[in-house]
Amino acid sequence: MNTSVVLFTADLRLHDHPPLRAALDGARRVVPLFVRDDGIDGAGFTAPNRLAFLADCLRDLDAGLRERGGRLVLRSGDVVAEVLKVVAEADADEVHLAADASGYAHRREHALREALEADGRRLHVHDTVTAAVEPGAVTPTASDHFAVFTPYFRHWSGHSQRDPIGAPRKVNVPDDVKSEELPSRDAVSGTSPGLAEGGEAEGRRMVADWLRSGIEAYEDQHDDLAGDGTSRLSPHLHFGTVSPVELVHRSRLAGGAGADAFVRQVAWRDFNRQLLAVRPEASHADYRTRRDRWRTGKKAEADIEAWRQGRTGYPIVDAAMRQLRHEGWMHNRGRLLTASFLTKTLYVDWRVGARHFLDLLVDGDVANNQLNWQWTAGTGTDTRPNRVLNPTAQGRRYDPDGAYVRRWVEELADVEGKAVHEPWKLSGSERAKLGDYPDPIVDLKDGLDRFRHARGLE
Ligand SMILES: Cc1cc2nc3c(=O)[nH]c(=O)nc-3n(C[C@H](O)[C@H](O)[C@H](O)COP(=O)(O)OP(=O)(O)OC[C@H]3O[C@@H](n4cnc5c(N)ncnc54)[C@H](O)[C@@H]3O)c2cc1C
Repeated sequence: MNTSVVLFTADLRLHDHPPLRAALDGARRVVPLFVRDDGIDGAGFTAPNRLAFLADCLRDLDAGLRERGGRLVLRSGDVVAEVLKVVAEADADEVHLAADASGYAHRREHALREALEADGRRLHVHDTVTAAVEPGAVTPTASDHFAVFTPYFRHWSGHSQRDPIGAPRKVNVPDDVKSEELPSRDAVSGTSPGLAEGGEAEGRRMVADWLRSGIEAYEDQHDDLAGDGTSRLSPHLHFGTVSPVELVHRSRLAGGAGADAFVRQVAWRDFNRQLLAVRPEASHADYRTRRDRWRTGKKAEADIEAWRQGRTGYPIVDAAMRQLRHEGWMHNRGRLLTASFLTKTLYVDWRVGARHFLDLLVDGDVANNQLNWQWTAGTGTDTRPNRVLNPTAQGRRYDPDGAYVRRWVEELADVEGKAVHEPWKLSGSERAKLGDYPDPIVDLKDGLDRFRHARGLE
């Protein structure tokens, strides 16, 4: 009886899963395998919030497989060695895997192919599992990737997409391949108290809700910090509990200006991936150097710590940083303005901020995090690399009556209306009621002058 192994990575679902479908079409028995990969742990990429979300995803994937007569096999260790062991135990002749964009994923694919072929087995790598449009599927005439989003999006939109695939009815897993016990989110310490729930069932429920009652208002509402009018699907896209192909397909069917704006945003995800796929070093090195000599030293360290703790004295920055700590997630507008504040107003290396985000974000993703940080720092693909977001103006614009700040900064919870964005302007007696909420750690004009000087813009 021929057997296939499906190695799940960032595609923890049963619906719209081309590797699983191909494995089931070609073999009578399938081993659905997930490897807790030492290589990923060793690279410092695991963080409590993502481990807890992952535990939910694995349990849900196992439950879905059990409903279909199968189960998930979990192993830990070196991914190549573990796959080879399972292949040998199941006497499988092929392994199916989703393509992915990072340098690490490319090295994993290469090592797996070599090891399997040396053993007379085959590796099949499937596109459009972790991306809606695969890196390299659209390219400009004179380069291997798009460096500007607008033309990329034009090509991305015109690229034909496959139809989503249904979940299998039955999965026949051989009995004699043992699994480790699945992890549980309760066993993970150090998670954010408001962390979202993982798993495909939850992801599909959220997509259905979003298409029914969120997407229509997305174009108008997506920047409203207090309104929280975005999909919050990013962790599900990161872990693959929601398929990007299916999400784009269903959003387009929903139609309208909200859906158009939403699909455009999902395309940003593919944009970053197509860049990382050919410039893997952009995960840690400037994509475009601006010859920055970022601040270091005691004062810079104190500023970084204030930023991490949400104690910069700029309420909108502090609110967003506290949301990140509490939920392991932050609104996109918050990410933009806190990253601009760190890299431009405080003139601190984007890698410092990217690291802190990766330590906390449940959707923390090498392509999206590192390249968005570079975009904001002006070392990435932003066509206006020296723009600086003024946090007070951002607060007044995207949180006009201050509800977002009051929600997250408890010291300011009693300050009414938009005055909450400038607590330093309150009268002495009102300020006395703010507890130990700090004064601004930097004067915005001084920060701007320092940045402009550093970038030679004077
Ligand atoms: C400094 C910084 C760091 C970021 N780090 C990450 C990260 O680690 N992981 C991550 O998934 N996103 C990251 N983003 C992008 C974006 O902020 C989040 O994807 C978004 O806020 C997630 O919320 P949502 O799912 O409600 O988004 P929605 O607005 O509902 O958008 C739907 C989906 O589109 C994609 N998307 C939206 N905006 C972007 C964008 N600017 N770039 C790439 N994809 C986008 C995401 O997959 C998102 O889930 C970062 C942005 C910045 C400025």
